[in-house]
Amino acid sequence: MIYLDYNATTPVDDQVISKMLPYFATQFANAASSHEMGHQANDAVEEARSMVAELVATKRGEVYFTSGATEANNLALRGILPQLLPTRQRVLVGTTEHRAVLDTAHRLRASGAAVEEVPVSSDGLIDEDSYVAMLDDRVGLVSIMWANNETGVIAPIARLAELAHRVGAIFHCDATQAAGKVPLDLRSAGVDLASLSAHKLYGPKGVGALYVHRGLHIEAQMSGGGHERGIRSGTLNVPGIVGFGEAARIAMESIDGDQERLRSLSSRLVAELRLRIGDVRVIGEGAPRLPNTVNLRMVGADSEAVMANAANVAISSGSACTALVPEVSHVLLAMGLRPDQAEECLRFSLGRYTTAQEVDSAALQVADAVRRVRRLTA
Ligand code: PMP
Repeated sequence: MIYLDYNATTPVDDQVISKMLPYFATQFANAASSHEMGHQANDAVEEARSMVAELVATKRGEVYFTSGATEANNLALRGILPQLLPTRQRVLVGTTEHRAVLDTAHRLRASGAAVEEVPVSSDGLIDEDSYVAMLDDRVGLVSIMWANNETGVIAPIARLAELAHRVGAIFHCDATQAAGKVPLDLRSAGVDLASLSAHKLYGPKGVGALYVHRGLHIEAQMSGGGHERGIRSGTLNVPGIVGFGEAARIAMESIDGDQERLRSLSSRLVAELRLRIGDVRVIGEGAPRLPNTVNLRMVGADSEAVMANAANVAISSGSACTALVPEVSHVLLAMGLRPDQAEECLRFSLGRYTTAQEVDSAALQVADAVRRVRRLTA
């Protein structure tokens, strides 16, 4: 199998596994225990917290561990709402957000929020004229992602946050797909809340974090022992958190080299496909994009059929998180593609272990599959 689905999840780095292993068996203590073994587990958690904080240029005390970015998004949106109501009941979310933000935001309506989606232009970037027109002093919260999981399109977060702050709104950013792939400075970008996940950056699944800018109050969504300074109760997943910290440390070391290598491999993939088959369109071509992600429309070839014909290449039609639900990508529709055009799109997401040979071989197999599908449906 050639794995080109790193945006769905990444393998865990060997160094991360080695760092995690002792915390399952020998150093298994509860980080909240007040004996020496507990203190050691807590020290490991705090070291990991520092690494995650450093990766996104924030302070250790502003990072709260969760079970992943889905929980972090839920905690951010639900946890901030009580302090916005009743005067700032408007919540603006990007229309191409991940379901974990979109569905959570829509559910806030039951609690009295007025939720509106900010449109994007055909390149996938937030339509700034619409955004500015929507902002007023009744907007309490804006949530816009740093990089889109399906297209890799990168938003100008600092500017969008600044515009939100001008009307006094709080700015949340789902940075799940950007962290570890491009340098993130949440503090200088003016982000108030941000969601992260370990399994997108060579850490384990089931661990994530919410960044909460100092001074902001987030209401806990689960009652319990008051862990994570009262914001997120539940015994800490020490091995997972240690793995997240190590993954963040490695990401800081390798981000520059990875970016350059992945950008060149992504270009190579597009060039190889274009050489073999005509009519390949890059989605969001005019926008800044993640170095590892290319979403391609193979005109005249249904993406599910292409995937079935290129069974040795792990790629994705739409986002994996909604792949179980047979629906056309809301991201591509929001960018103005018709449903039949969106169904011709495939997401290739490369990663740290992708080689040039894999890219060439995947291009060959996918090109063959596209030709076959086009022939059969012509
Ligand atoms: N946000 C984005 C942009 C994502 O890509 C994902 C993962 N598909 C999530 C949130 C959810 O992350 P997790 O799997 O950690 O819950």
